[in-house]
Amino acid sequence: MFRNFKMVSKVVFGRGCFSQLGDILQEKRQGSEAVMVFLVDDVFKNGPLKNRLPLNADDMMVWVNVDDEPKTANVDQLTMQIKEHMAGKLDSHPSGIIGIGGGSTMDLAKAVALMLTNRGSAADYQGWDLIKKPAVYHAAVPTLSGTGAEVSRTTVLTGPQKKLGINSDHTVFDQIVLDPEMIAGAPNPQRFYTGMDCYIHCVESLEGTYLNSFSRAYGEKAMDLCREVFLSSPEDADDRLMMASYCGGMSIAYSQVGICHALSYGLSYVLGTHHGIGNCIVFDHLEAYYPEGVREFRQMMAGLNIDLPRNLTAGITDAQMEKMVDVALVLEPLWENALGKDWKTIMTREKIRSLYLKM
Ligand code: NAD
Ligand code: ZN
Repeated sequence: MFRNFKMVSKVVFGRGCFSQLGDILQEKRQGSEAVMVFLVDDVFKNGPLKNRLPLNADDMMVWVNVDDEPKTANVDQLTMQIKEHMAGKLDSHPSGIIGIGGGSTMDLAKAVALMLTNRGSAADYQGWDLIKKPAVYHAAVPTLSGTGAEVSRTTVLTGPQKKLGINSDHTVFDQIVLDPEMIAGAPNPQRFYTGMDCYIHCVESLEGTYLNSFSRAYGEKAMDLCREVFLSSPEDADDRLMMASYCGGMSIAYSQVGICHALSYGLSYVLGTHHGIGNCIVFDHLEAYYPEGVREFRQMMAGLNIDLPRNLTAGITDAQMEKMVDVALVLEPLWENALGKDWKTIMTREKIRSLYLKM
């Protein structure tokens, strides 16, 4: 079966295009009060962004904290908060959910939009195509580039049992606003870690067994853009990084990520390591699997004086190690993409353990 995937319906790109958000949303304001809900990364709480939000009187603005990556419990709590806001109104749902932030905030916006129309807890839908009802209209304004969350059909959540996305066609954003000025303030090393998420998406897609011309076209372009951004720092680096993230996301939409992401999920589940930095920590130890990519990654890292944390797994218990291996092994398509159909004979628990012990 060929993948028949849903893409973001509308995209606006350009420096300053954030100013158009009000007009874009106006078309989507339905019902008497036409409530829009803005979920905004609280890193912007004390900055000028607050005064640029196209807020109407009945709208709801929530500062979200992403010091920890999104959990299903955060989604359930936010969904409840929005339902309470809507309780006294004529419309049962808001007209839209707008996520403004990095991958974590965008994922929260996607998940909340889904959970407003689907019963139960977000944890019930971690997996593939478990969502049955369309989401509330949802849009994103990325303020960090690299994850590809702006184009993907998943929202990655840590639940009580596992770290796994809600993957569905309904997850995909209806609108994205790609304004390179929005990522201009992102500080290093965060900008680097999230940018490397994109670079690693490309390596894993281009080196994977699931590769096809669709993924190659986007993956090669995204990789070139990452090289330009992180090896030569051109004046329009933010514009290029934003498009790298978009293309990197499109590349994995029709292929898959690989070993680095599988191991990084384990680190994240057990130690709470964030996605971007976790990927960098893992990737640095994958020379045997992605020799060219790791060499170039180290070159980029050296150019920007990035120092990766070391000895993360030094003090962990046997139980934590086993859990980390379990979480990584659940991600079967990633291993198959990286190592082929016989991956289970190549990647044993022992081998995964020894890789983790180096980190
Ligand atoms: P993030 O959203 O977790 O943010 C990282 C830090 O940067 C936070 O402290 C945040 O407050 C801050 N930040 C964001 N924008 C900023 C700005 N412009 N200036 C200053 N600080 C800013 O980081 P991320 O790397 O974009 O996203 C990682 C998350 O994305 C993880 O939760 C991961 O699971 C998820 N993810 C999702 C997908 C997907 O397809 N849905 C893909 C990859 C990763
Ligand atoms: Zn990633």
